[in-house]
Amino acid sequence: MKHLIAQLDHSLDWSTLPTLAQAVVEQAIAIQQIPAPTFQELRRAEYVATRFAALGLTQVDTDDRYNAYGLLPGKHRGVPGVMISAHTDTVFPADANLAARAEVGIIHGPGLGDNSIGVAGMLGLANYLQQQILPGCDFWFVATSREEGMGDLGGMKAAFNRLKARINTVINVEGMALGHVYRAGIAVRRLHITATAEGGHSWLNFGRSSAIHGIVELGARITTIRPVQSPRTTYNIGMIEGGQSINTIATQAGLWLDLRSEDSAGLAQLEREVMAHVQAVTRPDLAFGVEVVGDRPAGTIAPEHPLVQGALAALAQVGIQGMLESGSTDANVPLAAGYPAVTIGITRGGNAHRLDEYIETAPVADGLRQLILLALAAANGQ
Ligand SMILES: [Zn+2]
Repeated sequence: MKHLIAQLDHSLDWSTLPTLAQAVVEQAIAIQQIPAPTFQELRRAEYVATRFAALGLTQVDTDDRYNAYGLLPGKHRGVPGVMISAHTDTVFPADANLAARAEVGIIHGPGLGDNSIGVAGMLGLANYLQQQILPGCDFWFVATSREEGMGDLGGMKAAFNRLKARINTVINVEGMALGHVYRAGIAVRRLHITATAEGGHSWLNFGRSSAIHGIVELGARITTIRPVQSPRTTYNIGMIEGGQSINTIATQAGLWLDLRSEDSAGLAQLEREVMAHVQAVTRPDLAFGVEVVGDRPAGTIAPEHPLVQGALAALAQVGIQGMLESGSTDANVPLAAGYPAVTIGITRGGNAHRLDEYIETAPVADGLRQLILLALAAANGQ
């Protein structure tokens, strides 16, 4: 892999790379200016689709999940292709102030790093391939929806289902992950646990069951769970809600629980412990309901896999020592289905999911070169 990457690097024409990197940064800002909360990615998807069409991709399309698709036909049409993906959705509400601000070497803008620069990097790759080299196999470019928050990878699940018969490799782009190679998708389960109780007046009906007391008792029990450290397994009660007024015994309450593990069995064990606590909190007229509101499958490929080795070699070729990672990204979906997939970055940045999010502009050229090298190496492996 190292050899192939080095060979590709020497044979390609990089004279246009600085211009391309500049265009990718400008493209990222244009994408970032379009609001795209999870489940409301339509406008951004339509914009990306027009960019796909402008770059000369074929079969340009959007679907009912607000994914945008484009195809770059390769030299060999019959062989399985490569899917390049980047998510469009952001954690910011539709009315957030999306003003971008440039300083020396960095640009601030909510969602710019996660993941407008990732989507722009994907467009940069399509642009480069169109101009410079016909790849060995088909390339499917997909801007996916529903990666953040409660999206549950719904965009990637639909896109992968649609393309899985036509591809055998996925390269997913997360804007600020330059230097990192995600080769393992952690398993995530999310539960909304609700309590209902008879309720009443805080003074007159004292002693009746309260939905809030039930939820906090359950929450206190959950926080005593000590999950195994290897494989790494975690939980978080991210939100609680409920009640009517300070002097009302609550009839309704709920908590939102995020469970994660590097391994599906570890996650299942953690969920069983949570459910045992749900069953252990018993009061007259108190009832719990458990709804699964998120389910991201786990999957992994070996560090020795050519795609992982290719990703590390592509980074090394641009002078960056890559680090292997596990995490929850769009690549979970193909990994869980047994397809080789990695998530890589385009640049560095910080303050993801905050209004003061920023990206560095200088690394973008190296990030692009790395993406181009890996994509072509993956296509060469056909
Ligand atoms: Zn992201």
